[in-house]
Amino acid sequence: MANTPYPESYYAASANPAPPRPALQDDVETDVCVIGAGYTGLSSALFLLENGFKVTVLEAAKVGFGASGRNGGQIVNSYSRDIDVIERSVGPQQAQLLGNMAFEGGRIIRERVAKYQIQCDLKDGGVFAALTAKQMGHLESQKRLWERFGHSQLELLDQRRIREVVACEEYVGGMLDMSGGHIHPLNLALGEAAAVESLGGVIYEQSPAVRIERGASPVVHTPQGKVRAKFIIVAGNAYLGNLVPELAAKSMPCGTQVIATEPLGDELAHSLLPQDYCVEDCNYLLDYYRLTGDKRLIFGGGVVYGARDPANIEAIIRPKMLKAFPQLKDVKIDYAWTGNFLLTLSRLPQVGRLGDNIYYSQGCSGHGVTYTHLAGKVLAEALRGQAERFDAFADLPHYPFPGGQLLRTPFAAMGAWYYGLRDKLGF
Ligand SMILES: Cc1cc2nc3c(=O)[nH]c(=O)nc-3n(C[C@H](O)[C@H](O)[C@H](O)COP(=O)(O)OP(=O)(O)OC[C@H]3O[C@@H](n4cnc5c(N)ncnc54)[C@H](O)[C@@H]3O)c2cc1C
Repeated sequence: MANTPYPESYYAASANPAPPRPALQDDVETDVCVIGAGYTGLSSALFLLENGFKVTVLEAAKVGFGASGRNGGQIVNSYSRDIDVIERSVGPQQAQLLGNMAFEGGRIIRERVAKYQIQCDLKDGGVFAALTAKQMGHLESQKRLWERFGHSQLELLDQRRIREVVACEEYVGGMLDMSGGHIHPLNLALGEAAAVESLGGVIYEQSPAVRIERGASPVVHTPQGKVRAKFIIVAGNAYLGNLVPELAAKSMPCGTQVIATEPLGDELAHSLLPQDYCVEDCNYLLDYYRLTGDKRLIFGGGVVYGARDPANIEAIIRPKMLKAFPQLKDVKIDYAWTGNFLLTLSRLPQVGRLGDNIYYSQGCSGHGVTYTHLAGKVLAEALRGQAERFDAFADLPHYPFPGGQLLRTPFAAMGAWYYGLRDKLGF
């Protein structure tokens, strides 16, 4: 049977120890079968276990194998689209519900870390950095917008203030969110998996769901076993493939790349990011970076539509890093890796039910560390019969990519090229 290891990355190399988790080789019964042990699956499992459900998690590879164990580690609140865009699309009442939840995912992560004593280098503080006056104007209106939904902790940074928090000459200003921050993403996932098991949940690794038998009492089949459940939660996101064809049609896996430098030492690391905040810029194709616990710079950016793995990741990302920080020209890159996130046309998550007992959440389109934690809570609420917040997400309109599965990649790449050009030209 296939044994899929973690891809090589800084995170895999610095992962906390985890117990071996066997593949499913039996027929088991459970209340909820969760497909996928990323943040969506693990957060759902934890909330369900805390509410008395019996939970079995099936993971095709290893806990945190997907985006959850490879991402930039940035706790970025809210969604990949602004609330005013959402409001125009769905109206004030639904926008109010979604706006109220926009900062909840970051709180959930902190509660999880504290309650289950998860060692994942959690640090507070995230900066949105503006490269142009227009982007700064957007941050100002975003702050006003978020305040309208009760999120008043944001601080605008003028050019002098942003220089105090990040040694990059390119920025004209920014916005600081102290409820943002950063984590070692794989260690967060591993800590959450341990929490799931501490509450009696069972996680099978190397156990891909290969078929779902739908019906009143659905069954998930793996190569060597099966799980009969009252409910199924599909949480495979960009790695799900075609297991659920309805979900594949309206989304597109995209790759994004990350590098980790050699340890920089305290002095150089402190000179780049004196308060140890994480940073993302305001471009459509954005760069994001932060320090690790051992003072490396993790730098991410770049998108490959259709999720082909680029041959030389360092050649793509290192120039972006040196543009932001020319002072790192002699620094060695120790790790470079790629991971897939799931893009939707609206860039808003897809949440819903298939029949009455199969639930799903996917496609947060880039900003997913906080949303997926919120999604777990909202999915668990829905299974408990409190679906108001779930429905606020489920009612978001979604459309298939123009060109269908064949042409969606070139069309999306063309769109991104257009926005990338706008970023470069500053309009
Ligand atoms: C390189 C990269 C950098 C990113 N940086 C950031 C960031 O800094 N901040 C941020 O907010 N977001 C970031 N994101 C996005 C964020 O990481 C994701 O949105 C989030 O982790 C998605 O979590 P998930 O649980 O839905 O999916 P995943 O973490 O991808 O988990 C899905 C899991 O399901 C499993 N699976 C799939 N199919 C099956 C099956 N048939 N049977 C069993 N298991 C299956 C997979 O193996 C995988 O482990 C980044 C994404 C990438 C790829």
